[in-house]
Amino acid sequence: MVRFLVPAALALACFGQAPKKGSSPVTRSSFGKLPDGRAVDLYTLSNGKGMQVGIMTYGAAVVTLTAPDKAGKYADVVLGMDSIDGYVKGVPYFGAIVGRYGNRIAKGEFQLDGKTYKLPVNNGENALHGGLKGFDKQIWTAREANGGVEFTYVSKDGEEGYPGTLTAKVLYRVTPDNELRIEYNATADKPTVVNLTNHTYWNLAGEGDILQHQVTLNADRYTPVDKGLIPMGELRAVKGTPFDFTKATAIGARIDQKDEQLGFGGGYDHNWVLNGSGMKKAAEVYEPKTGRVMEVLTEEPGLQFYTGNFLDGTIKGKGGRVYQRRAAFCMETQHYPDSPNKPHFPTTRLDPGKRYHTVTMYRFSAR
Ligand code: BGC
Repeated sequence: MVRFLVPAALALACFGQAPKKGSSPVTRSSFGKLPDGRAVDLYTLSNGKGMQVGIMTYGAAVVTLTAPDKAGKYADVVLGMDSIDGYVKGVPYFGAIVGRYGNRIAKGEFQLDGKTYKLPVNNGENALHGGLKGFDKQIWTAREANGGVEFTYVSKDGEEGYPGTLTAKVLYRVTPDNELRIEYNATADKPTVVNLTNHTYWNLAGEGDILQHQVTLNADRYTPVDKGLIPMGELRAVKGTPFDFTKATAIGARIDQKDEQLGFGGGYDHNWVLNGSGMKKAAEVYEPKTGRVMEVLTEEPGLQFYTGNFLDGTIKGKGGRVYQRRAAFCMETQHYPDSPNKPHFPTTRLDPGKRYHTVTMYRFSAR
């Protein structure tokens, strides 16, 4: 039996106000206040079939997402906290939009047009996920738009060390086909780098660890890393390694094998180089007990597949559930880590007058 993980207060916020027929599929409720008094709102998007997604204005983060199992029962499949206080106390990017640069930049340094930019170093000697106060820790403004909710954050010139004012817009929609569709847009007033992603932690069983989940990745290569998880620059074939997910394989099947790359990440924490270009299927995950399936489709060239190796049981999440090591996995669609320092990787540069635009979809079904 899958435990229904949405706690009472959140359940009321998410499910107490089902949209009436003919009305908008979006509802808004309060999700509390930050210590400085600023209000945080929770938007709930529904597709009228049972799928509901709660997204808050703090970090534009996915707080709940319900997906069907093989009996047609919807349950929450994402890690999160009962209230805003839990998020403020500190969580590893649960559900959030990560920016201005998702993933790592070596030694917190890069050059653009001959000038060196220095970023706060917050992960060993490297910069991770946009800095000390990245987009995940900001309040985004929200408005209903195009059948969904559009979140906007304006990051000032020099914020967290990045050049140029960047206006980021993220449009979340829930489609009739049980998809969460995320459309990212950004513009800048000076040349800068940008790499936005969503950092939701998934557990399709809704409880326990994720080692039995079967994963398929549409990738023949990945970017091996050094011990600080910075890509070395090589695109290495997955064939014959524990990184080969070209056929459905349980996450736990090889995760603890003696392998230098697995050792560096404490499990999987790597960027896969997706096959193909444009919108393509990047991944499929199947959870055998519940039959839940999640497909990931993206326009991005890479996917960071992270298996929650750094969760350590110190966070008590929704409903008091303790999040143990490997209680969830992330599939962060993205450009490759450290691209600003790797000219042969697809570029993350954004120039004034140009538009950063990219779409990722998470599609849910059961079999
Ligand atoms: C990184 C992990 C990190 C996690 C939470 C992932 O994107 O690759 O190394 O622990 O985010 O910060």
